[in-house]
Amino acid sequence: MPTDTFRHKGLRKRMIETLIAKGITDKKVLEAMNEVPRHFFLDSSFDNIAYEDRALQISCLQTISQPSTVALQTQLLKIEPRLKVLEIGTGSGYQTAILHRFNVRLYTIERQKDLYDQAKQMFHLLNIRPHCYYGDGYKGLPGYSPFDRVLVTCGAAKIPLELFRQLKVGGIMVIPVGRGVQTMLRITKTSETEYKKEEFGTFTFVPMLKDKAK
Ligand code: SAH
Repeated sequence: MPTDTFRHKGLRKRMIETLIAKGITDKKVLEAMNEVPRHFFLDSSFDNIAYEDRALQISCLQTISQPSTVALQTQLLKIEPRLKVLEIGTGSGYQTAILHRFNVRLYTIERQKDLYDQAKQMFHLLNIRPHCYYGDGYKGLPGYSPFDRVLVTCGAAKIPLELFRQLKVGGIMVIPVGRGVQTMLRITKTSETEYKKEEFGTFTFVPMLKDKAK
């Protein structure tokens, strides 16, 4: 188990100041970002840069999102306690741990077995129990739908229809959409077939891929 030293806590306070400067206003989001030790989710060689506002390499050629992106996506979700939340792209598990602070019913899917295994191990150490699934996020989790919130943490070419289907009417999906570069979208489902779309700038995510990698 890594340790969370005063130095890490100090670096995290500075990260929070950066997030505020970048427009994150939701107190609960800032609180969660201050509480979850990001360096736990990274290789120890990144210890000195774990709290800089940048994406960093994790296993399987994937990345942990930049803190300001994690904070923005979380803020856009407008989470309330006890909602049912589905995350696509567990990756390191950092974003999952942030969502967990909101006291929600949390489901997360990862298509890379190594990342799935490592994240589960970290959740175990942190004594948190999100429902973790190894599989294809495009399929969602029909057995547990509908979801109040869906958060996609990889770049999708378009809004995945199956995930839209599994979203409750009145529910919110936050998803970066586009090939190469993505636009951050907040989709609010207004009826079984309609939605309202809001845009929040451009980002570069690792791609949302179909089928399992081997
Ligand atoms: N939330 C993560 C971000 C990791 S990057 C974190 O905080 O670390 C995005 C992740 O999405 C990668 O781990 C990638 O393997 C995963 N991914 C890509 N396509 C996927 C799919 N179809 N289903 C599930 N996970 C997927």
